[in-house]
Amino acid sequence: MTTVLSLSVDPALDRRAPNQQIWPLTATVTEAGHLAIGGCDVVDLVARFGSPLYILDETTVRAACQQYQASLARLYPQAPHRVLYASKAWSCLAVCALVAQEGLYIDAVSAGELLTAVEAGVPGDRIYFHGNNKSHDELRYALELGVTVVADNWHDLQGLRELAGDRRPRVMLRVTPGIECHTHEYIRTGHLDSKFGFDPNEMPAVLEFAAQRNWEVVGLHAHIGSQIFELQAHRDIAEALVSWYRQGRETYGLPFTELNVGGGLGIRYTEADDPPTIAEWVEAVVTGLGKAWEGSGLPWPTLVCEPGRSLIGPACVTAYTVGSQKTVPGVRTYIAVDGGMSDNPRPITYQSRYSALLANRPTATAATVVTVAGKHCESGDVLLRDVLLPAPASGDILVVASTGAYNYSMASHYNRLPKIAAVLVNQGEANLILRRETPADLLRQDCLPDRLRG
Ligand SMILES: *Cc1c(COP(=O)(O)O)cnc(C)c1O
Repeated sequence: MTTVLSLSVDPALDRRAPNQQIWPLTATVTEAGHLAIGGCDVVDLVARFGSPLYILDETTVRAACQQYQASLARLYPQAPHRVLYASKAWSCLAVCALVAQEGLYIDAVSAGELLTAVEAGVPGDRIYFHGNNKSHDELRYALELGVTVVADNWHDLQGLRELAGDRRPRVMLRVTPGIECHTHEYIRTGHLDSKFGFDPNEMPAVLEFAAQRNWEVVGLHAHIGSQIFELQAHRDIAEALVSWYRQGRETYGLPFTELNVGGGLGIRYTEADDPPTIAEWVEAVVTGLGKAWEGSGLPWPTLVCEPGRSLIGPACVTAYTVGSQKTVPGVRTYIAVDGGMSDNPRPITYQSRYSALLANRPTATAATVVTVAGKHCESGDVLLRDVLLPAPASGDILVVASTGAYNYSMASHYNRLPKIAAVLVNQGEANLILRRETPADLLRQDCLPDRLRG
């Protein structure tokens, strides 16, 4: 169960795909016998920044960004490419600024995610705006920023028509591609019974509507789901879009130049997970595009993709402090930590599985089967079920791997737990990127009507 930790590596030379690793690329064991990430002793980080703590490894984020960029440059030399970071995976200033430094664009889904990208220094022309129910306020904001609006439905198209004024919005059209893939039902989006995108039957009317506007309609988008290991589904995307792409250009005279194939590449949470590498995923997408476009006479499109999980997921671990224990004789032993479903709602939402070790003795023999529970008032608040660990005791620092995606961004205040802090680690340096909330922070938005005052 205890995963072999790598030696520290030069990021420029590292060829391992982050999404195939359970632990960040820089995970190693110090001379003191502690887990280190980004050259920082995790036990020291917890002493300094408190517990629980998200620890984000800069090297691993940069390596994932570089592997997407380099694979696209190598495998798709015909036309430009754009890698968008699906910021819903983890939206905060430091993460947006970090991926932007690697040349990535940002995909945002709300006014809050737009604001975060903008405040991180990302210009509007490097932001794409998604969402299946954009409010008029959000659309107005998006138009002011000059971002690319990915129109998901008629509500978006009509909103843009009402609000554009003299502006000439840059628009993509999201199509439901009708591609089934194997992942959790809640994170499947490509099948026809999905709330996202235009139904293919509507496309002629959508293209006609778009052609009547003086908009910069740049292309088509599809996204089939998340945590996907099969390459075939991603190979099929271009084929599902090519006829609409052709009709848009040839029948309706739309200036299509971009094909956005979405994100969705899965990552390794446990030894049982076996995702393809980032390069293999890019190769599948490019192969599918090649087949669909071959002999079509269509110019090669700018290939846009928007990974979230595979960029940020493997780069982060969450450190907790072990507290109470309870043994149900003959059934199981519960080990409780000081966080849980409020900082990682994935196990209770998707029955997701994770890997863990003890940062203060990462190489100790893992010989005890335990269930790691959170501290919330919910029996389902279990982070890891039946995992092998070296008999955790109160005060041990338990570290859960691959928590960068859909953890902080889905965090809640359940049981009024303040949101936890996050640090960015790199070459022995640790910088706070999210301050730990306090109970007082939780009261900031509370209002007490006079008549209720005692
Ligand atoms: C969630 C989402 C992504 C990113 O998916 P990952 O599985 O995190 O790579 C990309 N595009 C759209 C439209 C999404 O909704």
